[in-house]
Amino acid sequence: MLHEKLSSIYDNVLHRNPGETEFHQAVREVLESIGPVLGKHPEYAESKIIERICEPERQIIFRVPWEDDRGEVHINRGFRVEFNSALGPYKGGLRFHPSVYLGIVKFLGFEQIFKNSLTGLPIGGGKGGSDFDPKGRSQREIMRFCQSFMTELYRHIGEYTDVPAGDIGVGGREVGYLFGQYKRITNRYESGVITGKGLSYGGAQVRTEATGYGCAFFVDEMLKARGTSFDGKRVVVSGSGNVAVYTIEKIQQLGGVVVACSDSSGYVVDDAGIDLDLLKQVKEVERLRVDVYAKRRGGDASFVPGRSVWEVPCEVAMPSATQNEVTGRDAEMLVRGGCIAVGEGANMPTMPEGIRVFQEAGVAFGPGKAANAGGVATSALEMQQNASRDSWSFEFSERRLQEIMRDIHARCLATADEYGMPGNYVAGANIDGFRRVADAMLALGLI
Ligand code: NDP
Repeated sequence: MLHEKLSSIYDNVLHRNPGETEFHQAVREVLESIGPVLGKHPEYAESKIIERICEPERQIIFRVPWEDDRGEVHINRGFRVEFNSALGPYKGGLRFHPSVYLGIVKFLGFEQIFKNSLTGLPIGGGKGGSDFDPKGRSQREIMRFCQSFMTELYRHIGEYTDVPAGDIGVGGREVGYLFGQYKRITNRYESGVITGKGLSYGGAQVRTEATGYGCAFFVDEMLKARGTSFDGKRVVVSGSGNVAVYTIEKIQQLGGVVVACSDSSGYVVDDAGIDLDLLKQVKEVERLRVDVYAKRRGGDASFVPGRSVWEVPCEVAMPSATQNEVTGRDAEMLVRGGCIAVGEGANMPTMPEGIRVFQEAGVAFGPGKAANAGGVATSALEMQQNASRDSWSFEFSERRLQEIMRDIHARCLATADEYGMPGNYVAGANIDGFRRVADAMLALGLI
């Protein structure tokens, strides 16, 4: 239910951003949480902080022409939404996926504002991407696309302005091509302009692992708060990309048994526990589909095409693929199967009905804004190392990540308690993230 004032703000968001359903969903979730904050802080409403937060500071849409290996010309659309810079330069990844349009980029950018605020680090919120589909494209086609994308994007970014990183379809290889083109056009070795870089040219230890590791650390904290741990727990992780792979790695180190993962073709179930070396070989090195994992693994491992991985019973679920991948029905299936905790590695993977099902069943539910903030937090640490021309060890970087995740967890719980909603991590994350941005916006005047 929306507070009356917030309901009219939400109606206005619907009216001003027609057809952008994912953006509407992300805004509604935040507005549903912050009603009680307005009661305590009338100054936010008086200064129209919420109306301002819902309107991006700047939205850039551009043409990306490129040539495939046969010489055919293709035209894609590029986006960068610079949503809020009250806390620092815009920060958020780039997504290359055919489903990308303005509504997806705006939902991701909006979420990023609160997530980045929750980390406690000096980063604003932004997001970008393209409707380019990297699947089946050669390495040289990917390079030419990235170069064309950066040929426009370079004029809008900079270490003090806007700092992109990876997301779906954009990993270390793409970040390398993007940074290379930025350097070539500007004649500046400006390491802090993009994060997720390779270790040989200014990248940071643990950035590749950070989102997945951080999400596992967050769920570990939720389990500890309930007097239990990952030890011996049956876990299902969706996806098999960057976030999923490193979520699996850390859960295994913490004693959990990951029995299933997926990609957009279906899922593999492997009751003996996923063989991570094999999964990395198939997905990261050879860039193949998950059915190849099941074929090579043999034994009891099997591939189930075209179905939802959430039909596999588990005690902990870690949605790590994409938005709206956990429906209300999936959530009911998970609860029936004995699920006690959910950690969102992906952004907004659980639909609103699903969140309700989990919360009503008393499942510990860690929303993406909090649970997957380890990726962007480690990106901010990469910027810090670039600025000081320093590089930290793996062990030190991982310890910093774990401290940040513990702190986010503790603040979500404390804020939920303060507002009379104990154990509600969604409310805790939205309120805590919102307050810091709102206070900065008030302090900075009419921005
Ligand atoms: P990757 O591109 O590395 O992997 C994405 C995975 O999700 C792949 O297995 C992919 O399968 C699957 N997937 C993507 N889209 C769909 C879809 N429409 N339906 C079914 N499966 C799909 O991306 P990341 O691991 O980086 O990102 C995963 C999620 O985590 C996203 O929501 C992203 O926003 C979020 N995130 C990522 C961060 C990061 O640091 N990378 C930081 C914070 C959040 P397939 O290959 O078949 O498409």
